Amino acid sequence: MKRKEFLTLAGAAAAGSLFAPGAAVRDAWAGAAGKTRVTVKLYELKLRQAWGLSRGTWTTRRNCYVRIERDGVAGLGEAAPIARYNETAESAAAFIDKARPVLERDLGDYAVRFGEVDAVGPGEHAAKAALDMAILDWVGRRLKVPLWKFLGLGREKTVTTTYSIGIDEVPVMQQKVRDAGDFGVYKIKVGTADDRKILEGIRAVTSKPLRADANEGWKTKEEALEMIDWMAGLGVELVEQPLPASQLQDYAWLKERVKIPVFADESLIQASDLPRIAPYFHGINIKLMKCGGVQEAVRLAAMAKSLGLKLMIGCMIESSLGISAGAAVASLFDYADLDGNLLISNDPFRGVRTVKDRLVLDDKPGLGVEGDLF
Ligand code: MG
Repeated sequence: MKRKEFLTLAGAAAAGSLFAPGAAVRDAWAGAAGKTRVTVKLYELKLRQAWGLSRGTWTTRRNCYVRIERDGVAGLGEAAPIARYNETAESAAAFIDKARPVLERDLGDYAVRFGEVDAVGPGEHAAKAALDMAILDWVGRRLKVPLWKFLGLGREKTVTTTYSIGIDEVPVMQQKVRDAGDFGVYKIKVGTADDRKILEGIRAVTSKPLRADANEGWKTKEEALEMIDWMAGLGVELVEQPLPASQLQDYAWLKERVKIPVFADESLIQASDLPRIAPYFHGINIKLMKCGGVQEAVRLAAMAKSLGLKLMIGCMIESSLGISAGAAVASLFDYADLDGNLLISNDPFRGVRTVKDRLVLDDKPGLGVEGDLF
């Protein structure tokens, strides 16, 4: 790993000017005054190929990483900030700094600590997810038990992940499918004026089932219905977030008419959104980074299931650290889209393995993640 790839938080966490891309490694701040040593680093993930969604295209993503160490045991967490909710790697780092007093308390009381972290301030769900992960990783390592086992989830169920194809020129998207390897289902990003060409192009190179994610890219309910019906005929088995989250009444209209399930992603951030949106969707995409961590995702999944919703666990562009946390609880979900680590070329961690399209959990304690970032 090149030193210049590290972006390290030094001094006052809120000082955004310290985080210019390409900044050299600095000594990370640490909790020297208390018993818990907290280290935060920002790191730029490089995408293997440009990552195109209906709302923009990226070649890198900057995430925030935290390591907590107490009583000789360390725990790791990752925040993949979501720009749509005004989060950045810097704001995540600043939140973690504010939450440091919570980390001085007994980390074994992880559920209590999670509530205290949440109460530190509003929003910053990715930072909260990072702290939840780090605390659970610490607990698991201390007890020498993997997180999936600690949560009583077993690993008998085979969990497979979709592989996401970002928006690009159609021949590039076709090549992404050819290069992807042996995935049973592809998730195709749509929500553009060229969606028919995109889907037809993908269908020309694979006969596998497809899922489509419009990321709020279609504007009217009539346009969405027409596209969804057309895609259903092409073997698309579900569609995510066809319309803007603000158009909830249009989702009511759509749900009565579509032939394939419509899933909420941008429409659902956290548990408090669920009662409002549940009647309008067939399923929901829960992401650790959106809802604030593993504990909240498990709670949200239970609530959504009781309301009859289908469950998908998704991810952002994340390293194997965040993906391993999601994989630990993926058996609770009907569908998994945990491929963020497969889309980057400089993953600083090793964790859950993806064999063909199967997520393989191991017996290592905590999140089971190793790496040389810290
Ligand atoms: Mg989505």
